[in-house]
Amino acid sequence: MGKSKLSQFTKLGDHYLENETAAQFQLMKKATRKDGIQIQLISAFRSFTRQKEIFEAKFLKLQQTNLSEMETIRQITQYSSIPGTSRHHWGTDIDLIEKRSTNHKVEDVLQPNHFKKEGIFSNLHLWMQENAASFGFYLTYTNNQERTGYEYEPWHYSYIPKAKVYLQEYLELNMAKKLNSEKIKGLENMDVNFFEKYISDYVEGINSSLR
Ligand SMILES: [Zn+2]
Repeated sequence: MGKSKLSQFTKLGDHYLENETAAQFQLMKKATRKDGIQIQLISAFRSFTRQKEIFEAKFLKLQQTNLSEMETIRQITQYSSIPGTSRHHWGTDIDLIEKRSTNHKVEDVLQPNHFKKEGIFSNLHLWMQENAASFGFYLTYTNNQERTGYEYEPWHYSYIPKAKVYLQEYLELNMAKKLNSEKIKGLENMDVNFFEKYISDYVEGINSSLR
């Protein structure tokens, strides 16, 4: 749920990752450098508290428009998770870009267009398509039309050996009930059924190799 202690993780610069994920990430980083690509972590482990801040800030901002509560939540969850449900809570997942001197703000960096052919991160994307799996990293939110949940995220990778295990453990917890008892702005009126559906659409709406 993102409530683990930071001391359990490996620190890489400003970011924290699960220990094996961190070691494999470092190996992959070395390999990209050999091929002239400098990768940069945008996001790794994220705590429940941080995810709650992100979610609630977006909720308050969108509530200034005429959107209903449900529609607001649907908009936020195109790319952002309900706190307690993000794979970033596990330390096995990363958001990745290529380091370059641009004036892009972080919000503008994570755009699918940048990863397309001719996009600023197309080299990284191609490299990852060819090599990431040999280090255990798989794209999580693919552009498969049959996938439910989040939009296509060509920057988000999971370290499969650990993430697969964590997913199974996560799905065995009674998360819908746990989430229903958290005080999260925007979700006060939601019931256990809402969270159950959310978990099945979003948490399970991933690249089928990761299940
Ligand atoms: Zn991510």
